[in-house]
Amino acid sequence: MGLEVEKKSIHHPSHQHLLVCAISSPILCFCNACGKEHKGVFYQCTTCSNFTIHSDCAFLPKKLLIQKTTDDAFYHPHPLTISYSFPLPDQEAKYYPRCRVCNLNFYKREFFWIYKCEKCMYYVHLDCGTSRREPFMSILSSTGSGRLVKNYEDAGYPHLLHLPFPDQTDNILKHLFFKNNGPRSFETDEINLHQHQVILVDTKCVDSTVGSTSSSTKAFLLHDPMKKIELLCNACLRPIMSMPYYKCAESCNFVLHEWCTRLPTKVENHPGHPQHTLFLMSNVPHKFFNIFDCRVCRLPCNGFAYGCVECGYFVDVCCGFIPENITHKAHPNHLLSRVKLDNSDRICHMCRKDLWKGRFSFSCSSCDNICIHPECALLLAGTIRHKYDKHPMSLSYFPIENHKSEYFCEICEEALNPHSAFYHCHECVWSVHSACAPLILRSETETHSNWYGNSIYRYVNVKFGKIHKTAGHEHPLTFTQGTASDGDCSKCGIELRYEMIFKCLECKYVIDYKCCKRLNSS
Ligand SMILES: [Zn+2]
Ligand SMILES: [Zn+2]
Ligand SMILES: [Zn+2]
Ligand SMILES: [Zn+2]
Ligand SMILES: [Zn+2]
Ligand SMILES: [Zn+2]
Ligand SMILES: [Zn+2]
Ligand SMILES: [Zn+2]
Repeated sequence: MGLEVEKKSIHHPSHQHLLVCAISSPILCFCNACGKEHKGVFYQCTTCSNFTIHSDCAFLPKKLLIQKTTDDAFYHPHPLTISYSFPLPDQEAKYYPRCRVCNLNFYKREFFWIYKCEKCMYYVHLDCGTSRREPFMSILSSTGSGRLVKNYEDAGYPHLLHLPFPDQTDNILKHLFFKNNGPRSFETDEINLHQHQVILVDTKCVDSTVGSTSSSTKAFLLHDPMKKIELLCNACLRPIMSMPYYKCAESCNFVLHEWCTRLPTKVENHPGHPQHTLFLMSNVPHKFFNIFDCRVCRLPCNGFAYGCVECGYFVDVCCGFIPENITHKAHPNHLLSRVKLDNSDRICHMCRKDLWKGRFSFSCSSCDNICIHPECALLLAGTIRHKYDKHPMSLSYFPIENHKSEYFCEICEEALNPHSAFYHCHECVWSVHSACAPLILRSETETHSNWYGNSIYRYVNVKFGKIHKTAGHEHPLTFTQGTASDGDCSKCGIELRYEMIFKCLECKYVIDYKCCKRLNSS
């Protein structure tokens, strides 16, 4: 290398003209290769007045194993190749990738060099790939541990939640309220959250129903996407996938996780409404069909709530317990802390969507561009089961290595951005949008949740299926999610696809939630 630096003029493949090295002592100068100012010996174009590249950059290898240059902190199995630009149309075609080292984009850096592995969609800035960026170096491991250095002490955070939850059987409420000492004795009038008697269902009940009528056997089954059985807890709306659980003794489809019967009756000092106590309620008052919008995640919900009636502040029961600190595999080894954002220029590290001002975020204390939506961190499980696939699908944060084809979602069949969190089966080489994943049991023909392309299924906190006798129609209506075949609302004419709708099973009458609400309030 030293010998090459001595060369007074070079033809470099990055530039069409001859480059000369006219200076004898090191200078500080802008480098057109890496886009940074750095000190040293520069080559200058003899034709273009302001084209200069640093000799270090000029003689970088054409192929680079990133683990060698980053001391194993960043790993890619294939050598990365140098590329002398990253044009915007290419960036767009690859869903605007971010640098896998520093997480910043290439948007205003299309004329600077990068290292890339095209087939794996792995891109890094020149200085990131070669570990020249100073602030980033300070967080790197010096021991070659293969990861970012852990930036917190375990002893300081004894109850730290490590996310994502391994699978859909787990959630924040189970984490907080599950006790291994068997089901509690549960009196319905003790918490008064359901109008009928609630009974315990455990494995003994399943045995005793063998040979009885099929309907009572069915009532004791667990949620199972593989068998297309949906059983959603009325408190938290997450699936019930383990015994024991509680169900209504009448036939009203009311079920509760065992741990959801242990929800505290009140929450003090909630970060979103610290001034008043929030009380547990099975219905938010004066909401049609019990649907309210959670003030933390903004998702519609008809489960239990914690609320302050006086101020009209209501959150779903999961959002009642947003942890103060977490870690997440999407950004391993760094502590992520709950903060309320005071500006809106942030993008979620998982879903790549905006984080709005005033919303909560889990933000990294060491890396100032790493923020995660609480719902992305808490609601997307590490693995999911899917009836289309006998293997579990795992949550992926980056494009899959050696992926052969274009990315698209197996459920909605639309394009999928592999730089945002999605589910992938490594055996079948299949991918699904994280928002499409919970739809397996809902609308079989119309699964895409077209909600600003969010990573969370819009109705993840809504339990559909209830029968409703409405003021505006003679037959009972079912509450469901609209599909293309539902057409337009019989009242206002809006398209019902993706909306919450009420649908008559006896005639063609179908209306959207807002119209039904209006009819029933007048
Ligand atoms: Zn340079
Ligand atoms: Zn970078
Ligand atoms: Zn590769
Ligand atoms: Zn529950
Ligand atoms: Zn919420
Ligand atoms: Zn997100
Ligand atoms: Zn970090
Ligand atoms: Zn999809």
